[in-house]
Amino acid sequence: MGPKVGVLALQGASQLHVDALAELGAHVVDVRTPEHLAGIEGLVLPGGESTTISRLLELSGLFDPIAERLAAGMPVLGTCAGMILLASELLDGRPDQRSFGAVDLAVRRNAFGRQVDSFETDLAVAGLSGGDFHAVFIRAPYVERAGAGVEVLATVDGHPVLCRQGAATVAAFHPELSGDLRLHDAFLREVH
Ligand code: GLN
Repeated sequence: MGPKVGVLALQGASQLHVDALAELGAHVVDVRTPEHLAGIEGLVLPGGESTTISRLLELSGLFDPIAERLAAGMPVLGTCAGMILLASELLDGRPDQRSFGAVDLAVRRNAFGRQVDSFETDLAVAGLSGGDFHAVFIRAPYVERAGAGVEVLATVDGHPVLCRQGAATVAAFHPELSGDLRLHDAFLREVH
């Protein structure tokens, strides 16, 4: 049996992450309550609506226990809204919206592809073998600032879209929509 990992399942696009991780042999738990964090060695924060997910994190009592686990170094993969939830600074968020601050990024919500909302492109990802990664962007966050401790792994027009700091990896796009498991595989290797 592979590692036990959680996918936050309060709102948004969690199921395809669950499917991808299960296909790679992980034991995957839908995380909806603090009890679901028991024994988890890594966590995925999916895309969705970060304002709603932030509110549900508070209501479910999950915000503080997840913050503690992240501070203790638990590997985490945040995609799109998940990137927003892991950033240290939010621009165009709701005033009461909270984030975990696991990655030293300032991100602006819904700022990528303002005219087109969504777009797809092939990314060269640092350290990823097997060629470009097809990336799907949906009302994606725009990184306005990346701190000195942040490693930028992929860019679009010179702009960061995949970043890592410590055990936290964040993508402005939706890797679960490409049928390409390499980023989920990289996440599971962080867990081990
Ligand atoms: N626009 C969304 C937000 O601000 C993120 C979009 C997504 O996750 N696809 O939360």
